[in-house]
Parts: sequence; structure tokens; C-alpha cells
Amino acid sequence: MSAEEPRPDLGGVERPALEAAVTALGHDRFRARQIFQAIHRRGLTAVEEMTDLPASLRAELTTGFSLTTPRVLARNRSSDGTEKFLLGLEDGRRIESVFIPDTPTMTFCVSTQVGCAMGCAFCLTGRMGLVRNLSAAEIVGQVRVLRGAVALAATSFNVVLMGMGEPLHNYDQTMTALRILADKDGVGLPPRRVTLSTVGLLPGLERLAREPVMPNLAISLHAPTDVQRGALVPVNRKYGIAEIIDACRRFPLKRRSRITFEYVLLAGVNDSPGDARRLAELLANLKAKVNLIPLNPAAGIPFERPSDEAVDRFAGVLADRGVTVSVRKSRGRDIRAACGQLIVEGPRRSAGQQLARLAFSEPRP
Ligand code: SAH
Ligand code: SF4
Repeated sequence: MSAEEPRPDLGGVERPALEAAVTALGHDRFRARQIFQAIHRRGLTAVEEMTDLPASLRAELTTGFSLTTPRVLARNRSSDGTEKFLLGLEDGRRIESVFIPDTPTMTFCVSTQVGCAMGCAFCLTGRMGLVRNLSAAEIVGQVRVLRGAVALAATSFNVVLMGMGEPLHNYDQTMTALRILADKDGVGLPPRRVTLSTVGLLPGLERLAREPVMPNLAISLHAPTDVQRGALVPVNRKYGIAEIIDACRRFPLKRRSRITFEYVLLAGVNDSPGDARRLAELLANLKAKVNLIPLNPAAGIPFERPSDEAVDRFAGVLADRGVTVSVRKSRGRDIRAACGQLIVEGPRRSAGQQLARLAFSEPRP
């Protein structure tokens, strides 16, 4: 007996493919738009609810496709408004997504994999190893569920791919998800509102550089030399810093946009003024900005968070050298929001941010 073919999930089908499927079934093309809108705009979770479709089409869709929605298993609200969601998938796997309010826009931080194969030394997700890739439907589904849960129908928002997983290690599903989210008949999320954070998988970066629809890019750098980075980010032994920086130099950027370099600060490991100087040299002549992330410590992570003074000093060295720098405010610490992977600059700025802002408000010679 052969195993039954899994039915494609309607929530992960791009509109043109949906049009092809609907016309192949002998229906009008506009039905595809209705289905797409029902899922991505109206947030319907079952084909039976699409009562504006002919019953025959509903029956055909139910036979030919699934339509899954991640279930909210737990929801934790931090004192600063950040909300972490534990979501359950069809196969019982669990992922985390986070809602971050007012930064200054609403931001959803979503996962692209269950676990991650990259094994970065300070990352809890890395500890899990890769369990499986998420489908495009599951990536898009996180946005749908979180939007519904926080009742954010009309307002504009950002999406950051900074939850669990390495997006460029699940390239096709991630890009399909971004195209679905960008589609004006659905969420209509402009690509400039999306940031893809990657450890720097070179082949993926090069593919991304050729995409017609391109998110903002954030590179998780974390160290200025290959020796240091190799100890923190194992994949650096395959794709070293020089190659990543080269790829960034070639990356097509819009006139005003920059590449973000994320840098998790670990006490006594990569947080010295010398490290900051080397980082500034590395990024010289690049359209770059640095986002410093003081480690979110957790049991089992063999590193410590640096003192606020060390963070300020590091930011100061960068700012003095003309590098745009921000310090990620640690939000949702009381709910241990996803590995501390949340980009945010809240209204209350840390001393480091204030220092950095001060440094930028005056043009440097
Ligand atoms: N895999 C991608 C995206 C997910 S991780 C990447 O690595 O870029 C998103 C960000 O969270 C990365 O910059 C990562 O280095 C950071 N991060 C992981 N664990 C962290 C921790 N314990 N404290 C602070 N930041 C962490
Ligand atoms: Fe994977 Fe990113 Fe964590 Fe590294 S930091 S293990 S790439 S999720």
C-alpha cells in the first residue's frame, strides 16, 4: 500500500498557482482571488467558511487541499507589552513567535524552522538541532495567527525572521512565504517591512541578491575575526567573514537602505574596545549599521551578559568611528522571549543607545 500523498496546504499556495489550480478544475480565475483573500485577508481557517464559493469548488478544495492554522498553545505577556506565543503545528511540533508592540511600528518575530542546524554557541534554538523546516503555509500562518490574536487587522506592521531557525537554510519556503505576504490581494506586506536575519549562508545570500522581491537584510556577525567567530558560529568555518562581507558589498541595496549587522555581546569574549575597533574597520565603506544585542542569558548557555558600561563603551568606539549603532533593548526578559532574538528599540533608550545617538547627531569630521 503506498503512502497517501500529503495534500498541499492552501495557506502556502501563491495566488498565481491557486489561479492555475482553480481554472484546471474548470472554475473562473477570480475564484482564486476570493480564496486567497478569504485566507490571508479575512483570516478564515476552513474552506467550509468560504460561503461565497460554489459548493462544488468547496468540495473540490477540501478533497485536494488542506488548510492548517497554527494553534496558540500558550501566550505570555511581558510587563513591557511584548507577547510570546507558543504555537502548535499539525504534527505536534512547537514553535515560538513573538509580538513586539510600538517599536515604533508593531513587529511580528516569526520562525522559519523547528530548531536550527547552525549550532551557534549562545543560542538555545541551536541546541535543539534542526527538527524540520517550516512550510510556507506555517511561516505565513504565524503572521495570520498573531495578527488575529492581537487584533491587528488594519494597522501596518513589520515582520522579522528572527524567531527559531535559519531562513536561508529553508530558502524556498521562506521566499514563498514572503511572496504570499507581499501579495496585495492578501496581507499586502511591502518587502521593506520585512527583515531577514541570517548567519550568512553564502549560496543563499547570493540567491537572495537576485530576487525580484527582496527583504531587508540582517547579518548575524557577532565577532570581527574568523578565529573568534568560528568559535561562536560553527558555519563560519565554511563561509568566513571576508566572503560574507564581500557578498554584502555586492548586495543590491536601495539608495537609502543599509545592511544591519547583528552582534551579540558576550562578556569577555567579543566585547573589548579592540573588538569594536576591528568591527569598525571591517565595516568601513559598507552601507552598514550595527545592532548590538547584549546576550540574553539562559541556563545552559555558557556565556554572560556584559555590564552596561562594557556595552556603552563598545557602542561608543563604533560611534566614534562613524558607524551607525543601536543597542537592542532587552524586551520581554521576564517571559524569556524567543532566545532574546528580538530586535527592538523601545521608547526608553539604554545609555548605550543614548550615547550612540548623541554621537550621530553631530557630524564627524
Ligand atoms: N538564524 C538567524 C535568525 C534567527 S536568530 C540568525 O542567526 O540570524 C536571530 C538573532 O538572535 C540572531 O542575531 C542571533 O544571534 C540572536 N540570538 C540568538 N540567541 C541569542 C541570545 N541568547 N541572546 C541574544 N541574542 C541571541
Ligand atoms: Fe540558528 Fe540563528 Fe540560533 Fe545560530 S543564532 S543557531 S543560526 S537560530
